[in-house]
Formats: sequence, C-alpha cells, structure tokens
Amino acid sequence: MTECTKCDREAVMHAAYSGSHLCETHFCASVEKRVRRRIREDDLVPGDATPEDPETWVIGLSGGKDSVVLTTILDDIFEQDPRIEMVALTIHEGIEGYRDESVDACVELAEDLDMRHELVTYEDEFGVRMDDVVEDDPEGMAACAYCGVFRRDLLESYADEFGADKLLTGHNLDDEAQTALMNFLEGDVRQMAKHFDASIGSFDEREEQDAFIPRAKPLRDVPEKEVALYCHLQNLPAHITECPHSSEAYRGEIQRLLFDLEENHPGTRHSIMAGYEELAGIVAERYRDDGTKADLHECDECGSTTTTGGRCRKCDLLAALEAV
Ligand code: SF4
Repeated sequence: MTECTKCDREAVMHAAYSGSHLCETHFCASVEKRVRRRIREDDLVPGDATPEDPETWVIGLSGGKDSVVLTTILDDIFEQDPRIEMVALTIHEGIEGYRDESVDACVELAEDLDMRHELVTYEDEFGVRMDDVVEDDPEGMAACAYCGVFRRDLLESYADEFGADKLLTGHNLDDEAQTALMNFLEGDVRQMAKHFDASIGSFDEREEQDAFIPRAKPLRDVPEKEVALYCHLQNLPAHITECPHSSEAYRGEIQRLLFDLEENHPGTRHSIMAGYEELAGIVAERYRDDGTKADLHECDECGSTTTTGGRCRKCDLLAALEAV
C-alpha cells in the first residue's frame, strides 16, 4: 500500500507532476482548493457584488464529468453566499442515444443541489437536430464545426436572457493546454489574444467587451484524469459516454501528443499554460494598443454579435441547412 503524502491513509492517486500521493480526503480537498484559488486569482467575485445586487453566474452544464464537478464545487463554495446567484444551463443538441442520458444526469444534479436549471434544444431554437445536420452536411464540414457554432450562440443568448454577469464552463487543464498548443501550432496569435480576453486572463487584466458575456473556467488547473477521479469518488451523477459525432481530429492528435509528453516529462501541461498565459496576456495588450482588434457588428438577420459584418456564421449555417 502506498501511503498518502499528508497522512497515513492509503493513497488513491499519484500526481507525477508534483510527486504527491493523496488519499481520498486529501485528494478531494486538493481539487477543491485549486478551484477556490483559481476563483480568487481570476477575481471572479467582484468587490461590488452585494446581497442586494448579486452577480448572476450561468454555468454550462452538459452532464459530462467536467461540468458536473464544476457545478458541484461551485455550489459547495457559493450556496450560502448571497452575493452570487447560479443558474445551470443545459443544451440538447439532438443526438440520439447520447444527450438524453446526460440531460437526465443534469436534472438529477440540479435537483440534488436545489439549483435553478434551464434546458434549451437546437430543435426548439433552430429547428434542427445534430443527427440530421450530420446527415445533410451542406458545407462538407465535421459535425463539431456546426455544433460548436450553434452551442456558442445559445450559451451567449441564454446567458444574456438570464441576466448573466459571467458564463462559467468546465474546461479542465488538458482542454486548455490542448487549445494553447493548437493556437501555437496554427500560428494563430490573434486567437491567443482572444482566448486571453475571453476566458483565461484574470478579470482585472482583461479588456471589457460589452458585446460578450465574460467567461470563466475555474477547473482549468485540474487535469482531466483528476476531474474524473473526483467525480467517481464523490459519486456524482455524470454521464461518461462519448458523443458519437465527436470529430475534432486535430484536437485528438494534440491530445495524444500531450499525453505522451506528460508521461515522459511530468508537469508539461502546467508549464505550457504558465508560459501561454503570460504570452497571451502580452499579445492581448499589444492588439489593444495598436488598435488592430477585430471590429464587432450586429448580424443582419438575428442581431447577435459578429466579427464579420452581414450575416453571422450561425445564420449562414442555418440557411445552408434549409436549402438542402
Ligand atoms: Fe457537438 Fe461535437 Fe460535442 Fe458532439 S462532440 S456534442 S457534435 S461539439
């Protein structure tokens, strides 16, 4: 038996990047501590939030392990805090045999936590289901390319409807290190600046973007495996199955690359993110200073914010689907 680094109980995990072995109690406490620290370091709770004028946080709750763990920990931290009101938002894409089960997990969790829960569907909002989109595929694209545009639109518009001050998502350390590496490898410096201002800079470092609801990712210091272990140990109602349309091939390659690097050089994900955040912050500032940030426009059709002018990407895709 390997003993916990902090007590004499049996360890349930070994973090090669820190060298520690942790028992169930100390492991769960360490996950929660990292989320609390991230909330503090990102200045998520503004000084002017009061019980009379609370902040509204909309949490993207998909029913997968990441969003279930995030929602549970946030509830634990803020349930008794009258300065913060939380709403869980679930989006049903219309994927047979996949989303129905994860919606059940969301309903169960929201009931357990006594948290307000809202469910919206692509079918009700856009008149399409992802299963049909994949079959028609008018643009010859991967499923996730359609799905990501629709999801972003709904997250943004419903967060706006619920009066959200912040939109919180369950991205973990692996997700963020993959995105960082993809931006490097694609040479997409502007995307790094956008990433910083949209979700990874602390709130006092970011540029105010009135057109978009600020995002936050309080789980982004916790590796994916540890999120899964926390979910299992706490017996949370998460739905683990993979989406059958999952098709982000490039991200999959990066994921495998990062896995091998982390195996051979523990701590790689943390060091990627430390360097990336600093660099992305510098780049974001530079774009602000030289005025080369993209202009924002209103979509001619739905009125949502777009960087292109004319019709937004979501309306373009819906028009293409209608024409099939
Ligand atoms: Fe949508 Fe792709 Fe996620 Fe499936 S894996 S829910 S298609 S974004």
